[in-house]
Amino acid sequence: PASNLSVDAYRRQHEITISEKNAPPPFMSFPSTGFPAEILREVQKAGFTAPTPIQAQSWPLAMRNRDIVAIAKTGSGKTLGYILPGFMHIKRFSNNPQKGPTVLILSPTRELATQIQDEAEKFGNSSRILSTCLYGGAPKGPQIRDIQNGVDIVVATPGRLNDILEMGKISFCQVSYLVLDEADRMLDMGFEPQIRKIVKEIPARRQTLMFTATWPKEVRKIASDLLSNPVQVNIGNSD
Ligand code: ADP
Ligand code: MG
Repeated sequence: PASNLSVDAYRRQHEITISEKNAPPPFMSFPSTGFPAEILREVQKAGFTAPTPIQAQSWPLAMRNRDIVAIAKTGSGKTLGYILPGFMHIKRFSNNPQKGPTVLILSPTRELATQIQDEAEKFGNSSRILSTCLYGGAPKGPQIRDIQNGVDIVVATPGRLNDILEMGKISFCQVSYLVLDEADRMLDMGFEPQIRKIVKEIPARRQTLMFTATWPKEVRKIASDLLSNPVQVNIGNSD
């Protein structure tokens, strides 16, 4: 059918490869995502005309609750690739943020974590999504208080989050959507032990998404340990 042809053409044009034959078709336009109006309005305000290829192919998979390994280079729009389905996840579960966050995003550096939280705020404000950011080099007290005040999303560097978890003052028992952003860089920086300790504090019944620019064997190993039957989406011919 013509619709399949255009999906194939889109995937070819954008060099999208997927590990599964029967993966859902990409969302080639914003209206086709089914995102609520308040999110589509933010996307429009930002001046975005179409999803990027990684967004187009990750969104339908994430919204089917799949674990995902997404391999795409810097600047390809990965942040919204996991954040907007994260918003949908939060809406669906409608957990009480006072009892702990629903979404946890791990990021290698303070600068990147801050950028991710800025994006979460910009696109999530009108959906009443609350987020906060944890990173080293700043006092722990206010960061702990921010979480205790109630947030849906925590963006954190692994070192600081692990320190705070070890203090036993916050619970991550409600986290059901975990993102490992820039997984290759986090491993390069030596965060593997902290990541593994953090994941032990999160329920096993969760959705896990890993975003990475490269796919070396260390990243493959942690993906096979922490993700469950993931579908792999690759943009470009990086691997
Ligand atoms: P990555 O994490 O893959 O390096 P980012 O998520 O930081 O990429 O996005 C790179 C830039 O592209 C950001 O400025 C972001 O606002 C912008 N961007 C994201 N999605 C779109 C889109 N659909 N259309 C146009 N620009 C986008
Ligand atoms: Mg990024």
